[in-house]
Amino acid sequence: MTQLKTMNQQKLAQHLKAKSETLNLFSTRDRELLLDKHIPDALAALDHVSGEGPLEVMDLGTGGGIPGLPLAIELEDHHFVLVDARAKKVDALKEVADELGLKNVDFEIGRFEDLGRDRDLREMFDFVLARAVAPLPVLLEYASSFVKEGGYFLAWKSQDYQEELASSEFAQSEVVLKHESSHDYQLPTGEERCLLVFKKVAKLDDKYPRPDGIPKKKPLA
Ligand code: SAH
Repeated sequence: MTQLKTMNQQKLAQHLKAKSETLNLFSTRDRELLLDKHIPDALAALDHVSGEGPLEVMDLGTGGGIPGLPLAIELEDHHFVLVDARAKKVDALKEVADELGLKNVDFEIGRFEDLGRDRDLREMFDFVLARAVAPLPVLLEYASSFVKEGGYFLAWKSQDYQEELASSEFAQSEVVLKHESSHDYQLPTGEERCLLVFKKVAKLDDKYPRPDGIPKKKPLA
């Protein structure tokens, strides 16, 4: 990482921390862990988000901007769309992106189940990323509506993902996102983490995603 980019990650941490004073983007504990945990966790995807650019990348359920904002700082040639249902959080992230002068970031406010049927977003992304959003069988249904055929979905999980992965077999085949590889790594805090990579192997059937709330209530299993 260049020195300038390291400085920008530090600035990002400061801005997210400041915004968390008024809006609960991060808990009091997590605010102190931005530079040692959350930002390095986001950057674990740097080796995996690659290809002929500029790539279209979506952060699904960005919350406080992780992993989207740290990655957008590093990968300035790629275009990022950060998505969340919580308008107040997204508005705060827009301000942070402006304050940092990030030109490669846009935002969408809404439910994944609805946005996944929007013609401008459906199957338009080379990479979809999600950290701490939902269990895999649910997450795969949300993500698949945004990943283009031949594109990838990356899910951040803790290292006890084996059972969750095994329980996602049916969802993988239904929403045509096939598990391709798993990458273990360790955070500066010592925590063991894993990035799971799924490839979109065909076009998604029109019946997915199911209406708002159903993927979570009746996971594909
Ligand atoms: N990626 C963040 C996680 C934030 S918590 C991080 O790593 O810190 C999960 C976020 O997903 C919440 O902000 C919530 O609003 C959003 N979310 C969950 N289900 C959603 C849905 N069906 N549609 C839109 N947003 C959703």
